Amino acid sequence: MIEVVLKKGKEKAVLHRHPWVFSGAIERVKGKPENGDVVRLIDAKGAFLAYGFYNNQSRVALRLLEWDENSEINEQWFRDRVAAAVESRSNILVEGVTNTCRLIFSESDYLPGLIVDKYANHLAVQVLTSGIEKMMPCIIDELQRLLKPESIFDKSDASSRGHEGLPTSNVVLAGNHPPEHVEVIENGIRYNINIAEGQKSGFYCDQRDNRSILAAHVKGKKVLDCFSYTGGFTLNSLHRGAASVTSVDSSQLAIDTLKENILLNKFDTRKSIAITSDVNKQLRKFREEGETFDIVVLDPPKYAPSRSALDKASRAYKDLNRLGMLLLNKGGLLATFSCSGAMDMETFKQVLAWAALDAGKQVQFIYQFCQPEDHPVRSSFPEGEYLKGLLCRVF
Ligand code: SAH
Repeated sequence: MIEVVLKKGKEKAVLHRHPWVFSGAIERVKGKPENGDVVRLIDAKGAFLAYGFYNNQSRVALRLLEWDENSEINEQWFRDRVAAAVESRSNILVEGVTNTCRLIFSESDYLPGLIVDKYANHLAVQVLTSGIEKMMPCIIDELQRLLKPESIFDKSDASSRGHEGLPTSNVVLAGNHPPEHVEVIENGIRYNINIAEGQKSGFYCDQRDNRSILAAHVKGKKVLDCFSYTGGFTLNSLHRGAASVTSVDSSQLAIDTLKENILLNKFDTRKSIAITSDVNKQLRKFREEGETFDIVVLDPPKYAPSRSALDKASRAYKDLNRLGMLLLNKGGLLATFSCSGAMDMETFKQVLAWAALDAGKQVQFIYQFCQPEDHPVRSSFPEGEYLKGLLCRVF
């Protein structure tokens, strides 16, 4: 196996089992590995550190897999990791209640660059590293052995694929092409998913728990669901007795699917208003019209793709939340989220505090939302934590 020598003084993160080694930390490569090959990382004195995927096109030159020198990184190693991840989701998947979740979450499940989402009997896969790409035949075989899916579809259109020098990909990996509509159920609520055309891999299953937590507050309330996508918070609110739900998203396809989902669940369409619009514009319009709500949900896309974008993103989050607060009736609830990994909870609270000051409001944080257990965070890989939210009571 080809050996890669780490620069002296760069061992700490590796010894703490952080799975990334940046190209700048590498002293030299003994030989010519292909991108995606498994290599042996050694320290300056030649002692073993870890095994990992090599890629000279990525800023993250090594993605570490295993710290036990005696382990063999063979097909069985990958099959074992896939099986362990799938098994650990078994409590989430309950017949007749939930049949959609994330089965494999990349580094957090010890498989750097592999994301697998389950939608009923279909799987959507993202392959984001050349190492995982090489192992795909055995990974697909293991997924088929464990789950016998009708289809496995590659949704690797994520921008991060470019960082590894991989082309974007959107193909059937096994079975049939997924149908245009796959019906899934999450916490007893039905959704139509378009795996091939939908955003991300078709559905934001990372909000599963947060949707139910918020829904416990909605009975008899007038709810505004901003960035609704296909209706995660909207449908849960209608299900749990909201008086009305106004949903706003800029994607016409998302709003059309949200309307179909309301029918699919036989919810009262008279309680739903769905608006295709830019949220910032729509919030200002509501303010001009004097419209108010009891509960406002803000679940925007990622505003801070990196740490360097954090200042600008903080201002955007502040402005959005200020507008949300201004539309609330006294004592109303704001459920506000950030899926930017670069923004931690403390910074997010600070942003909310600024927004409250600017809006002339008082805010109590009454609950902290986080990502669910099918999006685990490895103690040695805090980068896996990205979704956070605050339930605020606003006076
Ligand atoms: N809350 C959703 C997920 C939201 S994902 C759920 O529970 O499933 C973010 C959504 O924001 C996407 O649907 C995207 O179309 C929408 N979006 C992005 N920018 C927007 C903008 N400026 N105005 C309105 N919607 C926007």
